[in-house]
Amino acid sequence: MIETIDASRCPRCDAVVAPPATWCPWHPVPMTPTSVRGVGQVITFTTLHAAPEGFRSPLHIAIVELEGGARFVCHGTETRGLRIGSIVAIEAVDNIYYFSHMGALERARLFWRRAGHAGDRVNAIARSLAKRVMKGRGGAAS
Ligand SMILES: [Zn+2]
Repeated sequence: MIETIDASRCPRCDAVVAPPATWCPWHPVPMTPTSVRGVGQVITFTTLHAAPEGFRSPLHIAIVELEGGARFVCHGTETRGLRIGSIVAIEAVDNIYYFSHMGALERARLFWRRAGHAGDRVNAIARSLAKRVMKGRGGAAS
């Protein structure tokens, strides 16, 4: 089953962002609600061998691009078999995105729910990773 993810689209530059935002990150333009299919392509992924307290090591994070170009930092239970360009299922739970090889979503969800508040710390790590990866993206911000 494929989930739908809530997002916002900029009517001027067509940028799609998630979680939904009021304003386009690149223009002072109000965004309109949209949704995207929870299937994407892996842009890059990494494994943190020193995971924050409350998480099992290693910890797997991937940046996934969805239809429409929105890029998500996603958590997952494993990167075994994962490649750049792999197609994965994405699910949003409380604005945290989880990638999964098709079929393993349920397992991932259970694992991350159990992790509880430590998720905030992982999100901070994920954000800094995303910043690093997206720096080279160019274009959209200019
Ligand atoms: Zn825009």
